[in-house]
Amino acid sequence: MAAPHANHGESYSCPYCNQRPLEAVASAPYVRGLIVVMLFGTKTYIGCVPCVRGRVLGEVGWSMLLGWFSPKSLIINPFLIVYNLFRGALVGADPAGVAKKLRELGLPEKPSFVNVQAVGVALAASMILADGKVDEEEIVAAERAGDGVFEGFDEAGLRMILQHGKDLPPAEDLAAMLHNVLDDEGKTKVMVFLSEIAIADGNVSPEERDLLERIASALGVRSPAA
Ligand SMILES: [Zn+2]
Repeated sequence: MAAPHANHGESYSCPYCNQRPLEAVASAPYVRGLIVVMLFGTKTYIGCVPCVRGRVLGEVGWSMLLGWFSPKSLIINPFLIVYNLFRGALVGADPAGVAKKLRELGLPEKPSFVNVQAVGVALAASMILADGKVDEEEIVAAERAGDGVFEGFDEAGLRMILQHGKDLPPAEDLAAMLHNVLDDEGKTKVMVFLSEIAIADGNVSPEERDLLERIASALGVRSPAA
């Protein structure tokens, strides 16, 4: 069996429209006055130029609605509205900014370089840890099924992760990294692989069923447990 096919995408697609390439990044400072307290923060958007511009200008709209209800925010909000209006107008293709943001997010610059094998090992570890105990049957199932799904499954890596499972990112975040990298066939293979791990100890616990559903939804496929 071949490894899941990677899309031959040269770049990530925009997470908002899923059509145009990822080419812009912008931060929009915002203020929300809540009578007494004032919330101040920055939202960062990364996507294609039209979507990022839309988000920044959308922030202007929210600020005009919600940014007035405390004395301090009353003073700050007009400046932020004007800033974000200009910022929105200035959003343009910014490959260097996008590359920097991807580095901050720990993502490789080109999606085809996402290490599918490594993500598969981490997902397997999440599944094995889902019911709160590490079963040898589940590890063996992961090794056996993983060899078929990913060309060469990193068994040593899996055992290392299982000993340090607390450091794992949430499984749905891992799965989301594969959303635009794997085709439907690859995603289905990953789900079958994870299901085989879940049933290896003889029963699928509610936690395992829940995790399978969350991973499937992050991948954008139907959960085999459903
Ligand atoms: Zn877009």
